[in-house]
Amino acid sequence: MRLTVLPLAAIGIMLAQPALAQAPAGRIETAAKLRDAALAGNKAYGLLAHLTDTVGQRLAGTEAEARGRAWAKAQMAQLGLVNIREEAFPLTMWERGQARATIVGSNHSLAVAALGTSGATPAAGITAPVACFANLAAFRAAPDAAVKGRIVFIDHRMSVTQDGSSYGVNGAVRRAGPALGAQKGAAAVLIRSLGTDHHRNPHTGSTSFPAGVTPIPALALALPDAELLARRCTAGPVQMQLLSTPTSRPGQSANVTAEIPGTVPGEVVVLGGHLDSWDLGQGVFDDGAGVAISLAAAATIKAHVDATGQRPRRTIRVVLWGAEEFGLIGGRAYAAAHKDEQIVLAGESDAGADRIFQIDSRVAEAGLPLFAEMAGVLAPLGIDAAPTNKAGGGPDVGPLAATGVGVIDLSQDMTRYFDVHHTPDDTLDKVDRAQLDQNVAAWAAAMWLAATDDRPLRTK
Ligand SMILES: [Zn+2]
Repeated sequence: MRLTVLPLAAIGIMLAQPALAQAPAGRIETAAKLRDAALAGNKAYGLLAHLTDTVGQRLAGTEAEARGRAWAKAQMAQLGLVNIREEAFPLTMWERGQARATIVGSNHSLAVAALGTSGATPAAGITAPVACFANLAAFRAAPDAAVKGRIVFIDHRMSVTQDGSSYGVNGAVRRAGPALGAQKGAAAVLIRSLGTDHHRNPHTGSTSFPAGVTPIPALALALPDAELLARRCTAGPVQMQLLSTPTSRPGQSANVTAEIPGTVPGEVVVLGGHLDSWDLGQGVFDDGAGVAISLAAAATIKAHVDATGQRPRRTIRVVLWGAEEFGLIGGRAYAAAHKDEQIVLAGESDAGADRIFQIDSRVAEAGLPLFAEMAGVLAPLGIDAAPTNKAGGGPDVGPLAATGVGVIDLSQDMTRYFDVHHTPDDTLDKVDRAQLDQNVAAWAAAMWLAATDDRPLRTK
């Protein structure tokens, strides 16, 4: 899908031109100029392609994620950002081994992927009857005796939504289904992937087991394979042979940060994405795009600072979080380490590479006029000009928001996000450059306005 932003951008550029010959532009005019400059050309696609092609997947805690951090620091330096830092934190690493699922007595080898933090089968695998459930509620209601020693299959279906909200609603099947299985005595849990494609790509992702509950094998089935298994369940008893050999060990990850320093020390606005990714694809939509958008927005602002000598009042800080996929570990570590700092506003780009359609805030009442200004500057990008003050913040921003940091959400169109999310299909060819550029334009303008403003934004 292509956007109508390019003709609008051309109009924006025409409107902005007379201001160049006059006195220094005001902050709103400058924000519009940054918006149009980013639409006319920015570094996001080049950065994303370079990250994809030279680093690839960046599973948290691994050497691949460390190479991602080295890449990020080199790019930050090249873009002229300063105060480049790596802030380490510990995590429990998890790496998949082999995974195999076959229906006994058939030649069906099902497409499966182990879920993060799940346990292993014995090396020879397990063979057990399958207990099938239409959804998580049906599984929850089942007596333990119907589940004990069995391979549980939960055929919980997710639908397409523009705002991605179906992931929140349906995510419990992956987050909680395996732990529930462990508590009920199941041998393993299989889920229909949280995905909206119909390729033979299982969608991985994290699950979790409460303290004291031993992790059991837990895997996601590709949608066509989940539907096959559901048909076999309807037809009669099914036996399955299952192998999954993930391993866990203590490890380390880190957040990477860099700045455009403001003229007034202390106050900081944060923009970022997460650098880690799942291992199956190349971490392009999730979340190389957010990394590239954040760096390119900062680069657009830095180019303006260098060309005009105009500096923002507040420091603009790019934060590339580590280990998001294993439970927001980097986001939590970052919020804890910076809880005494005056971070006034934070935003995260972590919903793919498609266009932004809405702006929302969660800030102090006194800061709301800033968001009205932002909405005005972003409206020509096709972004809804009626912000609410109920923003959730991206996953890594959540822990900051809990400490009182104001939140900006620029919500992206997630219609096709869950086609590729956490699958081998999360690759660069899915990126629509015009939509990626629209993201950079919006973030560059919004962050400039936030950083040149002095209204209070923190909620506590
Ligand atoms: Zn993500």
